[in-house]
Amino acid sequence: MFLKGKNALVTGSTSGIGLACARALAAEGAAVVLNGFGDADEIEAIRKELEETSGAPARYSNADLTRADAIEALMAAAGEIDILINNAGMQHVAPVDRFPVEKWDLIIALNLSAAFHTTRLALPAMKRKGWGRVINTASAHSLVASPNKAPYVAAKHGIAGFTKAVALETATSGVTVNCISPGYVWTPLVENQIPDTMKARGLTREQVMNDVLLSAQPTKKFVTVDQVAALALFLCRDEASSITGANLSMDGGWTAQ
Ligand code: NAD
Repeated sequence: MFLKGKNALVTGSTSGIGLACARALAAEGAAVVLNGFGDADEIEAIRKELEETSGAPARYSNADLTRADAIEALMAAAGEIDILINNAGMQHVAPVDRFPVEKWDLIIALNLSAAFHTTRLALPAMKRKGWGRVINTASAHSLVASPNKAPYVAAKHGIAGFTKAVALETATSGVTVNCISPGYVWTPLVENQIPDTMKARGLTREQVMNDVLLSAQPTKKFVTVDQVAALALFLCRDEASSITGANLSMDGGWTAQ
């Protein structure tokens, strides 16, 4: 249990990739703060499960990370964080000239600005302790674009740049800052965009899955949440202390094309 004594915050960890990361950190003994939305009973069951696996306290915050004031309250309540996984994200699919303005603002706030706020608030303690890990869930869309996802692509390119800038600022401090860029991972975020993509492109569900989603991924397989979590966990190891400012692709070869 190499993370005994470490405090971790995983944003957007009630589901999908974030939940898998929270489970992986807890399995190595970290005290985890969960965040995100969902059914209260299910979240409480996850929180208890994490405490049992880690042997450390697990907490939950329902902070809405599209709001800077809510992030400040979350960070104040969470205390000193050693491992910060900025993972909460949302998607909306529409052509840019018909993109709802309020959805643009929400996607930029959650997928980009939230990481700025959590990072700026977590870094002072990490620097003081001389150890820290910031891991941002970016996306293949931090490197390449797809149509009808302008704010998501802009935010993910932004988080990749943010990662590099903060990595340079913290390079001598014992803190590493990286992003992981998965291709399509089978989670509710992907499942929920299928109806809108069907509408936007006039396709059936099967066509969206095979001709839109997996068409980009040479392996023709969805990435799994556990694969992403295993990479995040590796970045927490001392062996990974020279990996900083990296954008690590896990996309079945998508961005090799
Ligand atoms: P998901 O929908 O399963 O999980 C998203 C999480 O974010 C949930 O816990 C949800 O409650 C939380 N969340 C949503 N809005 C929030 C808000 N306003 N404040 C706080 N929490 C909020 O999605 P996922 O696929 O696991 O995505 C996680 C991250 O991975 C996102 O940043 C996403 O862009 C990225 N990603 C996903 C894929 C994929 O194919 N699924 C690929 C590349 C990158």
